[in-house]
Amino acid sequence: MLREAKRLSPTETGFLVNDLVVEHFPGVVDLGFTAEMEEDFDQIAAGKEGWQKVIGDFYAEFGPQVKKAQAEMPVTKSEPEKIGRECPKCGHDLVIRWGRFGKFISCSNFPTCRFTEAILEKIGVVCPKDGGDLVMRKTRKGRIFYGCANYPECDFTNWKRPVAVPCPSCGGLLVLSNKKEVQCTNCSESFLIEQVGVTVQE
Ligand SMILES: [Zn+2]
Ligand SMILES: [Zn+2]
Ligand SMILES: [Zn+2]
Repeated sequence: MLREAKRLSPTETGFLVNDLVVEHFPGVVDLGFTAEMEEDFDQIAAGKEGWQKVIGDFYAEFGPQVKKAQAEMPVTKSEPEKIGRECPKCGHDLVIRWGRFGKFISCSNFPTCRFTEAILEKIGVVCPKDGGDLVMRKTRKGRIFYGCANYPECDFTNWKRPVAVPCPSCGGLLVLSNKKEVQCTNCSESFLIEQVGVTVQE
C-alpha cells in the first residue's frame, strides 16, 4: 500500500514532465514541438508509453539544450506557482499547471484531489445579460470564445470578441466582426471601428 502511494500516477508524471519542458525549453515549446510532445504526454497519461522512453527520445534530439538546461535547473524542482486561493474542495493551495490548451488552475493536492478550474481572462467588457465580467474561454478543442464570469448562472456566450463601447444606435453589446468593423448583438447594425472609437488590442 505505502509503496503504491509513493509512486506517481501516470497523469501526475505527465504534468511534471510538461512543467519541466515548459520551464526549461521555452525555445522548444515555441517551435511547434509541443503538439507532438503533448501527444506523448497523453500517451504517458494513458499508460501506453513509458515516460522514460519519451524523455529518452527527447534527450536524443535535444542533447545540447538538455545539457544547458541541466546546468541551469534548480537542485530541487520548483513548486508550481500558487495563485493565492484555496481549493474549494479540500482546502489545499490552488496552483497553475500546464495542460493541453495552456495554463489552467489545479489543486496542489492532485492527484488525491481532482479539482480544476479554467483561468478566466477578463476582457474589460461587461456582460449584457447580468453585468458580470466577460472572460475569454476555450472550448475543449481549443477554440476561443467569450463568456460570462458568472457561468453557469449566466449563459452569455459569443464567438466574436465583445468591445467595451456600447452600440451607438441602441446601446447594445458590440462584437468585432472583422479587423475593420463591429456589429451590435442586439440590433445587428454594423459600424466601422473608428466610427465607434474602439481601440483593439490583440
Ligand atoms: Zn483540492
Ligand atoms: Zn453574464
Ligand atoms: Zn444596436
